[in-house]
Amino acid sequence: MANNQISIAKPIIGDEEINAVIDVMKSGMIAQGPKVKEFEEKFAEYVGAKYGVATNSGTAALHVAMLSAGLKPGDEVITTPFTFVATGNSVLYTGAKPVFVDIDPKTYTLDPSKIEEAITENTKAILPVQLFGQSADMKPICDIAKDNDLIVIEDAAQAHGAKYNGDEKVGSIGDMGCFSFYPTKNMTTSEGGMITTDNEELAKKSRIYRAHGSSVKYKHDVIGYNFRMTDIGAAIGLEQLKKIDSFNEKRINNAKYLTEGLKDLKGITTPFVREGSKHVFHQYTIRVSAQKRDEWVEFFNENGIGNGIHYPIPLYEQPLYEKLGYKQDLPVTKEIASTVISIPVHPSLTTQDLDTIIKVVREGSQKFE
Ligand SMILES: *Cc1c(COP(=O)(O)O)cnc(C)c1O
Repeated sequence: MANNQISIAKPIIGDEEINAVIDVMKSGMIAQGPKVKEFEEKFAEYVGAKYGVATNSGTAALHVAMLSAGLKPGDEVITTPFTFVATGNSVLYTGAKPVFVDIDPKTYTLDPSKIEEAITENTKAILPVQLFGQSADMKPICDIAKDNDLIVIEDAAQAHGAKYNGDEKVGSIGDMGCFSFYPTKNMTTSEGGMITTDNEELAKKSRIYRAHGSSVKYKHDVIGYNFRMTDIGAAIGLEQLKKIDSFNEKRINNAKYLTEGLKDLKGITTPFVREGSKHVFHQYTIRVSAQKRDEWVEFFNENGIGNGIHYPIPLYEQPLYEKLGYKQDLPVTKEIASTVISIPVHPSLTTQDLDTIIKVVREGSQKFE
């Protein structure tokens, strides 16, 4: 492996974040306190939602959202199998069942035209994933939800600041949006997550599930959890929130540069950006031929280009899901999962890094495609 590795992800932590953490450490309030409240308000405002409920991870945000949606054993939630496992697992935590439908071949997000045939009398919600920084096609998804009285929960863990249909920000389109602030995401709090919603009742329930099922101290109405964010994390988040638009602009410009440098290359499909959408490029994911993908990975590693397969195994083929009885074969998901490979697009890349990445992909295309 080359020692000048260009990493696949790199969180940017400045003096602002460091000083904000020191201030919290000195304040004496290091668990959930005023910084969390401020971060909830400012992040919700950024997204264009009325309420924000901070949690200690994106997974916890999804879990709490499923509980607030009232999911219980026997209920079904329609979602995508082409995602990180937390999406499906958040449904399993409640005893409900994720029902996987196929994805759109261009954006790799939930295909709205496949949803209606999957609806049964047990369906309670639709859970699209705003994948790699791009929104799913939310208009038809929300229309179907409305016609069938279903809740829409957006897994927006990878898409802080992404927009759909002009100016609608993800996390404000469905009934609830769930974000992650894990260090590899577009902005971070170290570990952390957030639910955004316009619905006061759902926000209230989410606060209760986040803190041991309690709205009044030491009175517990339902079983809840300890999913609280700390003021240390929120202080980092408040500083990152001031920078998220500039981080995203860099990601978008890096993606443009890569797509320009890789256009018309034999065997390579560059990312598709839906008309009217703002794709914030959490990942820059290309497609190569399935038979050569392992060689591509090796080739990138040899040449010091960080890379990742997002995601190699559809959720219904994960051992966990197979043990639960899932036995499915969705053709678009299968094709995409076997051909994708993500390459660096993060805001710290230099033009020289980008040129190196382009050069290596061009060489690979000559070699393998
Ligand atoms: C990162 C991620 C999550 C989980 O977030 P954590 O903060 O790591 O718990 C959920 N869904 C998707 C699509 C993600 O990318």
